[in-house]
Amino acid sequence: MLRFSKALEELKEKALFRQIKDRESPQGAEITLKGKRLINFSSNDYLCLASDPRVVEASCRGLKEFGAGAGASRLLSGGTTLHERLELLLARFKSTERAILFNSGYSANTGIIQALADRDTAIFSDELNHASIIDGCRLSRGTVYVYRHKDLEHLRELIKKSSASNKLIVTDTVFSMDGDIAPLKELLLIATEYDALLYIDDAHGTGVLGKGYGALKHFGIKAEQRIIQMSTLSKAVGSFGAFFAGSEDIAQWLINRSRSLIFSTALPPSVIAASLEGVRIIMAEPERVERLWNNRETLLKGLKELNIETSPSETPIIPVKVKTNQEALRLSSFLFERGIYAPAIRKPTVSTPRIRLTLLYCHSDEHISRLIDALREARKCGLL
Ligand SMILES: *Cc1c(COP(=O)(O)O)cnc(C)c1O
Repeated sequence: MLRFSKALEELKEKALFRQIKDRESPQGAEITLKGKRLINFSSNDYLCLASDPRVVEASCRGLKEFGAGAGASRLLSGGTTLHERLELLLARFKSTERAILFNSGYSANTGIIQALADRDTAIFSDELNHASIIDGCRLSRGTVYVYRHKDLEHLRELIKKSSASNKLIVTDTVFSMDGDIAPLKELLLIATEYDALLYIDDAHGTGVLGKGYGALKHFGIKAEQRIIQMSTLSKAVGSFGAFFAGSEDIAQWLINRSRSLIFSTALPPSVIAASLEGVRIIMAEPERVERLWNNRETLLKGLKELNIETSPSETPIIPVKVKTNQEALRLSSFLFERGIYAPAIRKPTVSTPRIRLTLLYCHSDEHISRLIDALREARKCGLL
């Protein structure tokens, strides 16, 4: 098709062409790509649970006991006692009345926001929120107001002017490209003042912040009724899927109104069993979270010696910013040749091109010093 091949050529010219890269090994601190062993700084499997033998074993047991596919939506016969157990565990994990599983973070954000926001709802959304939140807002019947990144004054200005009868403030807890943290205490104050719901996407907070319990624990905020928590099971938990955690009423509403929950087959039992074990390990082994943060400190120290700016990162997501898409690609391939996998993130995903580094619990000091050495060399070669 001429139209697409032309458009693809244009992407290539602008260094914006994207490709799928599939591994030949399990996820972890080292992976094999195209036959090459690489130190991996591109994974969200923060606690290295995806290939933890206990998680894999639990998943096999789930598979053997309940079979491969779920075979139907949760509202029919797709769910199992494992699904119920996981929801009970997640409600306890997040200190809420109820948790409800969704099939992915993407499908949770689109399904929950769409169900919560009707015609009379004004949605206030941070400009750097994840794409799935943006799509959830678009799918809803609500009116969307985008506030400048973490700009409380701008949010206040917009919400003050709103005459909508329902209000919903939506934010990532940890922003996935810069690794900075949303000011949840202040957002909750504003939500309370204007009687709004506060929807938080804790995809990069769960297993990372608050000793693994997530962003609310990090700030010491109680999981009150107006807070709606969404998180994934696909990042630090090492499995797949996502969940809502909040009040019983909203849970019932989602079961009745959330299209991605109602019109999609339930997650398979093997995945649910893996999530159960992943969450159990997070709660039982806080030392994994501690080691993850120590690894962040080790890398930051090395980057500081090289005078590499990492702001505004506050988490194991660390951007190394450059000026152009081409520079980002060049730096990424330079590292690749030296056995380090750190992908380039380009416009329009981000406004400043970068390589995005994510640290893992299972990175060794050696892994991190190899990255620093390679970056030092890149600096010498004028790539940074
Ligand atoms: C990864 C991510 C999602 C999507 O979750 P998936 O389970 O991968 O679909 C949603 N929100 C944020 C902030 C994310 O980082």
